[in-house]
Parts: sequence; structure tokens; C-alpha cells
Amino acid sequence: MSALVFLEIRLKFIVVMSANRVDKTVRTGYNVSYHTKQNRHRRDGIVRMDYIINAQDAQVLVSADGEVVALEDRRYDWKERRERNMKLYELYEKAGYPDYAVRAKDCATFLEFATPDGGERKLRTANFCKMRLCPMCIGRRARKSAWKLSKVLDLVEAEHEVKFIFLTLTMRNVVDGKYLGAALGELTDAWDRFLKLRPIVRSVRGYFRAIEITRGNGITKEDKGYHPHIHVILAVDRDYFSKASRKSGKYLNQSDLVLFWQKALRVDYLPSVDISTTKAKRKRGGVESASLAAAKEGAKYPVKDDDYIDPKLPEDRAIEILRDYTEALRKRRLIAFGGWMKEAAKKLDAEDLEGGDLVHVDEDDVIREDVKLLIERFCWHFGAGDYILSGREISVPLSDRKGSGTKYLKEQKEKLRESGKELPNGRQWSEEWAKVQSEKNARGGQAG
Ligand SMILES: [Zn+2]
Repeated sequence: MSALVFLEIRLKFIVVMSANRVDKTVRTGYNVSYHTKQNRHRRDGIVRMDYIINAQDAQVLVSADGEVVALEDRRYDWKERRERNMKLYELYEKAGYPDYAVRAKDCATFLEFATPDGGERKLRTANFCKMRLCPMCIGRRARKSAWKLSKVLDLVEAEHEVKFIFLTLTMRNVVDGKYLGAALGELTDAWDRFLKLRPIVRSVRGYFRAIEITRGNGITKEDKGYHPHIHVILAVDRDYFSKASRKSGKYLNQSDLVLFWQKALRVDYLPSVDISTTKAKRKRGGVESASLAAAKEGAKYPVKDDDYIDPKLPEDRAIEILRDYTEALRKRRLIAFGGWMKEAAKKLDAEDLEGGDLVHVDEDDVIREDVKLLIERFCWHFGAGDYILSGREISVPLSDRKGSGTKYLKEQKEKLRESGKELPNGRQWSEEWAKVQSEKNARGGQAG
């Protein structure tokens, strides 16, 4: 359900409620005064009271003191990203992409969270635009890709005697943005040629590669324009760094790699090649696994939204950069797997690293739907420029509902869990259950 439909339904509801007398007028921290109406409803045998206000076509819940509840989430910087989205909306309008502009404006205007008793609040549903350059979606997708990729690397580690090496392969900067797309094409072609070089074939067992573009700082003469490059995680045999490997030529040193990359790139200059090994990183609250650390590095997003959403950037320049990125990245596959990594990605259904929903971006995001949940909905309030609580209810677990599909859903969940696939979110579950119900009704309500 899109935020608009949601709001429309809510508005109808408010019209129905408008027979209620106005309880009081409150002033809020947002410098707007609202009329509130008391709304009593019964759920779980408890009479709950919400104060509903209707402000600029949006429903808002306030406390009895008239306090507006804004979204606070230490796990994600929603508000800041939404503000950047509004900037992207403006830039896309001015750059002549009205459709993209609307999508940026409407991205994540509706967020639904679920909190189990005594547990942590987690995102349950949201309307993400999924555009590659969207500041809201960039952050979510980067986390999701890193998580999926770390699973792939874990599986490769479990199945093979492997070591991972991290490579960054670069080319000269592209000064004129209109050649950026062509440069990305050259990079991927060069990568394909690189893989076919005999020493590479001999030493490399698998790879993950991702294209990234950064923007030069423009301060030095050399650092002008765009800097397209490839991040690679290479899988090599465990004995790759051994003395024997160094003797036999299985081990490829820095200067070898530069020459191979130069050959593949078909250039007359020596391109820069950066090599590092992946190590477990010490993190607050424990040690981050080597594969997750590598994945985070490798699955970095193709561009940084700071490159075009920066208050210090003159607007015409920002528009130009946005246009260059949009055109260069359009319909381009930016990531690829090979060898051991490809096999593992296939097994985990993770080949499409960029795809999938952006609601559940890592393991911590899985919501148990078989317990009682407090559901809270936040809508982006364009007037206030913040996420404001717009709905709150208790969701009763399926097992406590009459004639529930608990058994069916439990079985489905178990199947998915066994196959190692991603668990669907709450909405997908309810859609699935609705489908089962309608099939059952179609059969004349017979037990099935
Ligand atoms: Zn988005």
C-alpha cells in the first residue's frame, strides 16, 4: 500500500471521526496549532486513547499533553536522509527528470515499525523508490548488499580452502561527464580480458567485482573529473602466499598485477592497482568477521550521494553531476560474481545483490510475527519536515486469532529457513495468507 492510499484511508477515517467534539487545541514544537479529537478504541480488552489531529492532510497522533511524536531510530538516520531526498527531488526536477523527481520525493514517506514486548523496534514496511542515486535507498542497499555478500563469502570459506584478496583497479580520470558511461563500459570489458590472462586463470578461483565512481576533489590538476574504478574480492588458494607459490608464480605481486591490468585495459600508462588482504576487524561489541569486513568494503555503493547532494556545491554543478551519474549508470550491471563466489551466490540466491526489498537489510531485521507486536506508523510530514507518528495499534499473533493460518505459515517459514532463503516481511506474509484464504474460499470453503 502506498503512502498516498494509506493517507486516503486515514483521511476517510478522520472524516468519520469528525462527529466527535474537538477536545482541545494544542501547540506543538513545530509551531503549528492543531485541533485534537479524542479517539477511544478497544483492542485486547484495553481501552486505548489516541489523540488524533488532522494537519495539512496528514493524520498525526499526539499524547494527551498534545505532544507530537517524532521518529527516533538509532539504527538509521531517516530524517537526515529524507531531507537529502527532498534535495534530490529538486535537482531531478531541474535536471529534466520529472519522473525520477517524483520518485525521490515519495520515497520512504511511510514507515511502519513493529516492536515486540520488551524487544527492539524494527522496520516492518516502507515505500522505498529503489533508485540507484536515492540517498534513502543507497544506505539501505549498501547494508543489504554487504550482508548478502558476507553470506556468500562465508559459504565460500566453508566449502573451500580459501583466502580473500581485495583489489582496486583504476583507470585515468574521466574529465568530461559525457564519456563516463563509455568509460564504465571500457572498465568492464577490461575486467573480462583481465580474467582471461593466463596467470590470472591459474591463480584466481573466484571473484566478486563492483564498479564504483567517485568524484575528484578538483583541487589538484590530476584530480579533476570522475574516477571510475573496480573493487574486486578475489578468492585464491589458501597456500597463495606460501614460499612455494611465490616460487611457482602462483602468487602475483603488485608489479605483475599492474602490468596485467595495463594489458587488459589497453592503455599506454601504468594504471594504479591497490592490493590488500582482508582481516577480521575489531569492533565495538565484538569482532567483525573477515568476510563481513571484506563485504562491507567490496559492496560499497556505486556512488556516494555526497557527490551531488552537498550544500557547498553550486546548484548547476550538482545538476550536471547528477545528470552524468544518471546517464552513465542507466541500465548498467555494476556487480558480478565468478567461480567459487558465483557458485555460492547461486546457492544462496544472492546473485542479484542489488535486488530485493530494502526493509530487511540484515539478520537483525527479521521480525517474529508469532508474538504480539506494537505497530507504529510514521508518515513524512512535508510541513513539519519530520517523521510524525500517525498510527499505533497492537497486532495479535496469528496463533491467537480464530481460524488462523498459523500451521500453514509455520510450515512455509520452516521450509524457507531450511533452504537458507530470506524470510518475507510481515506484509508479504499477510498477502500470502490472503492468497491461501481466497484459494480456500474458491474451493467452497472446504478445509485444505
Ligand atoms: Zn529511495
